[in-house]
Amino acid sequence: MIFKTEAIILKSIKFGESSKIITFFTKDFGKISVIAKGSRKLKTKFGSSLEVMSQSSVIIHKKDSRKLQIISESSNIFFFPEIRNNLEKLLIAFSILEIVAKTTHEEEKNEPLFNLISNTLKNLDSSTNETIFTIFILFQFEYAKINGFEIQFENCTSCKNEIKFLDKKIFFDYKNGGSICLNCKQQNSALFEIETETFVKLKTLIDYNFNKIMFQKTDFQKFQKFLDIYFKFHFDKHNLNFSNTMFNKIYE
Ligand SMILES: [Zn+2]
Repeated sequence: MIFKTEAIILKSIKFGESSKIITFFTKDFGKISVIAKGSRKLKTKFGSSLEVMSQSSVIIHKKDSRKLQIISESSNIFFFPEIRNNLEKLLIAFSILEIVAKTTHEEEKNEPLFNLISNTLKNLDSSTNETIFTIFILFQFEYAKINGFEIQFENCTSCKNEIKFLDKKIFFDYKNGGSICLNCKQQNSALFEIETETFVKLKTLIDYNFNKIMFQKTDFQKFQKFLDIYFKFHFDKHNLNFSNTMFNKIYE
């Protein structure tokens, strides 16, 4: 069967003399790996449409008996040039692609997820440098929601009482996906501690338009540390660790 769909290129590895194995996330089939024959030749018909991060229109020859499908044609829809020209944006974009590559299964259609990746890359491409971390944090919150483990803020995930921001620290039960009150805290072990001030900012970031609030870079580092633990736990992936690697690369 021959299919036409849209794809965002997640990974690309060399194969043989002149080919590449490409992993992309498609609108109609979720994550798929394909072989692009001749794509490393100087004059390739694929142009730049199979470069990592490109959003392209692709034609796939698909056989269910085959693990690796064949791509026969592709053309660029978005190339995201502003991301490619900016190291900080590039690190964020690669982190997004890494999350998707590592936490999705082959051939599980998820159109909301495809749209989230595409829209996030578009936002990142046109954003100022001040908002790139906000874009990344918001992406991860939406990503968790689409995957069925939305992060809860309003009430204690155990007794459902309202969380009061009176104490210096808020405890977060990442197993149950939300904040937990001081009364329920004792019986739980999967806890993450976060300063109330940081927590309130995070809640504001999610609830309101981020352009109206200014954040310190240290805040983002804290948010990211929390999200790293949350993602590691819910996706059972221990190699997702952006708070250390990415932030250090940018701010060292
Ligand atoms: Zn409680």
